Amino acid sequence: MHQLTLAEITRGLADKKFSSEELTKTLLARITQLDPQLNSFISLTEELALQQAKAADARRANGESGALLGAPIAHKDLFCTQGIRTSCGSKMLDNFKAPYDATVVAKLAAAGAVTLGKTNMDEFAMGSANESSYYGAVKNPWNLEHVPGGSSGGSAAAVAARLLPAATGTDTGGSIRQPAALTNLTGLKPTYGRVSRWGMIAYASSLDQGGPLARTAEDCAILLQGMAGFDPNDSTSIDEPVPDYSAGLNGSLQGLRIGVPKEYFGAGLDPRIAELIQDSVKALQKLGAVIKEISLPNMQHAIPAYYVIAPAEASSNLSRFDGVRFGYRCEDPKNLIDLYKRSRGEGFGPEVQRRIMVGAYALSAGYYDAYYLKAQKIRRLIKNDFMAAFNEVDIILGPTTPNPAWKLGAKNSDPVAAYLEDVYTITANLAGLPGLSMPAGFVDGLPVGVQLLAPYFQEGRLLNVAHQYQLNTDWHTRTPTGF
Ligand code: GLN
Repeated sequence: MHQLTLAEITRGLADKKFSSEELTKTLLARITQLDPQLNSFISLTEELALQQAKAADARRANGESGALLGAPIAHKDLFCTQGIRTSCGSKMLDNFKAPYDATVVAKLAAAGAVTLGKTNMDEFAMGSANESSYYGAVKNPWNLEHVPGGSSGGSAAAVAARLLPAATGTDTGGSIRQPAALTNLTGLKPTYGRVSRWGMIAYASSLDQGGPLARTAEDCAILLQGMAGFDPNDSTSIDEPVPDYSAGLNGSLQGLRIGVPKEYFGAGLDPRIAELIQDSVKALQKLGAVIKEISLPNMQHAIPAYYVIAPAEASSNLSRFDGVRFGYRCEDPKNLIDLYKRSRGEGFGPEVQRRIMVGAYALSAGYYDAYYLKAQKIRRLIKNDFMAAFNEVDIILGPTTPNPAWKLGAKNSDPVAAYLEDVYTITANLAGLPGLSMPAGFVDGLPVGVQLLAPYFQEGRLLNVAHQYQLNTDWHTRTPTGF
């Protein structure tokens, strides 16, 4: 049963082949048995899951249907879940039980999804390896000595290991697409504003966006359908109708114009990945797509701009964790300043502290113009590059990551080496565009992803292209041995 995709589960439940309760019990047992190897969950919510599964079965017995009704999922542990620990992978929030549900959590619960638990993540979503979690590193099911990618590494590892069919993630600079690529999954970062950020603990508010991680584009369509939509509680949520993503999967790719940026194939890209990306181009050409070389001339400035803007926003967002209102508080503070200093010094891990310091520095008087303002200008140039490119093509294609999953600990002493892994993903966040990563082959037994980017609100186009590609390739069906 654990091999079933979300779409197959929906059909199985509708055909009464099994109940949601049966499926939920099977998956919970599988998680208990196998997750100690991976560390992909921070909390299991067995009681809630069984209660939701029974309720979903009752709704189906009453004639209700729906793709998510009775479908087991998990949430990255930065989506607030009422009465349940929402840790953000941090000691700071280890004791925090959210007083309300995030909009995404509430919407999926209303659609009948069953929450199996909360998944491990880089602390405050800062990272590309899932090694900065207070709860320990997550392992890649394709090779337990390698990282699964981050920051939604728990969601990715759990889905890749068939512990459950799909999970939520968030993507500030690649945290859905990069772990999807490194674990052989399909992951989608929607257009900024497509999915509500209400109740999603903020890292960098102008970049953060929630989205689905699953094995197939078909499953991402189902999960995104349950997550997307206007939310008056989020002032950056956009009031645009949500199309029927599943209905749009079968469009023909005849004449689809795919742009391949020449800057994507420079030094730094593993040549074996470059070859696999060319194979995926050929596969799409066979389906009728037309390939065009394009240019994104400001791409080289993306990493420096992102690593000013994201920490700047983080330094402001994380100022709320002061040891007073919620979260970790140090023992026996001598006075208020001591309380602030020690609560934050003891509650935040080293990567989070580094980002807060970089961000506060970039925003400080005298440096604001040199760093933050300049980064914002680069951000606009990057957006303009995309706008020009999308005048000529319908989709942009390239690698998701320059390298396959690296060994645990390999980049620990050099944060910049890890930042460089985000080179292909962060531009979509800076511009607010939707992006998807899908399986494209293997290098040394480790998965490789191909990334597709589309104009604003064209998530449906991304899913359509990915689904057609997956009907004609079988990379996404490969299972890691041992799982
Ligand atoms: N790796 C990037 C960072 O550390 C992106 C993380 C994310 O998307 N949450 O900031």
